[in-house]
Amino acid sequence: MTKIIDGKAISQAIKDEVKDTVDALKKDGKEIALAVIQVGDDPASAVYVNNKKKACAYVGIRSISYELPEVTTEEELLKLINDLNNDPSCNGILVQLPLPSHIREDVIIKAIHPSKDVDGFHPENVGAMLIGQPGFLSCTPAGIIQLLKRSDISIEGKECVVIGRSNIVGKPMAALLLRENGTVTVCHSRTKNLKEVCRRADILIVAIGKPKMIGPEYIKEGAVVIDVGIHRMENKKLCGDVDYDAVFSRCSAITPVPGGVGPMTIAMLMYNCVLSGKDNPNR
Ligand code: NDP
Repeated sequence: MTKIIDGKAISQAIKDEVKDTVDALKKDGKEIALAVIQVGDDPASAVYVNNKKKACAYVGIRSISYELPEVTTEEELLKLINDLNNDPSCNGILVQLPLPSHIREDVIIKAIHPSKDVDGFHPENVGAMLIGQPGFLSCTPAGIIQLLKRSDISIEGKECVVIGRSNIVGKPMAALLLRENGTVTVCHSRTKNLKEVCRRADILIVAIGKPKMIGPEYIKEGAVVIDVGIHRMENKKLCGDVDYDAVFSRCSAITPVPGGVGPMTIAMLMYNCVLSGKDNPNR
């Protein structure tokens, strides 16, 4: 029987653990605060930002909101980040991506102090993750590792195939699976024989950005399938990169969309905020 991996329940458990830690820190007189910066009024970004603020309220983290106009210059944004880097009452800084095209994302990511980089995108944190040193882990792949572990799915020795090599999902996902002793293959748009490669996977992680692209012909019987994709269809319903109904019976376990990977990303952001509150050298 196929197990549905319940990202809603697992993310709730993580948020509750974070809430307990936040309460304990408060008793020691420490408050955790996250600066959430949005530039422009992209509606999808506004929804993500709102969900992050709601999660902060739930776990007891103070969110400090900066809603900047679309015309904000790179220099102005850098100045704000610099001020927040030097503000001991701010533990984490989150800049919602994508940014307007006149602002260079890589410059902004590098400007955030690594000890406040709760998204785990700063090159120093990415490098630390690769060589197994402490640092912030990118939230979506870290959330997927938690989904697997808390569903009692072992990674060690398994054939893990990741489709997608983005800096925020595919690459860190591959590094974390390797850290967990998986045998990892990364596929992308130039991969030859994608179906054959995917059919080797005991654990298939799909982060392509193409609605329902992965059908049963990509899946080995009994594989675990993790769907990172999220798309709104014409009928307003959400779907992933995997054709859920078509592959369901071939899998031993699968994440639904919605209610799979999505809620984990925010839960891991909250987890990172607590880490920043505990270990932030600026405090
Ligand atoms: P990107 O667009 O940055 O990366 C997509 C990757 O898929 C690229 O590496 C690309 O290859 C590869 N790809 C595209 N087409 C194919 C193909 N036909 N065959 C094989 N590989 C292909 O996307 P992201 O990693 O940012 O996001 C992926 C999906 O996950 C999106 O739907 C996004 O909305 C979702 N997402 C969900 C999150 C959540 O919390 N649930 C968080 C982040 C993302 P190449 O490098 O060669 O171009």
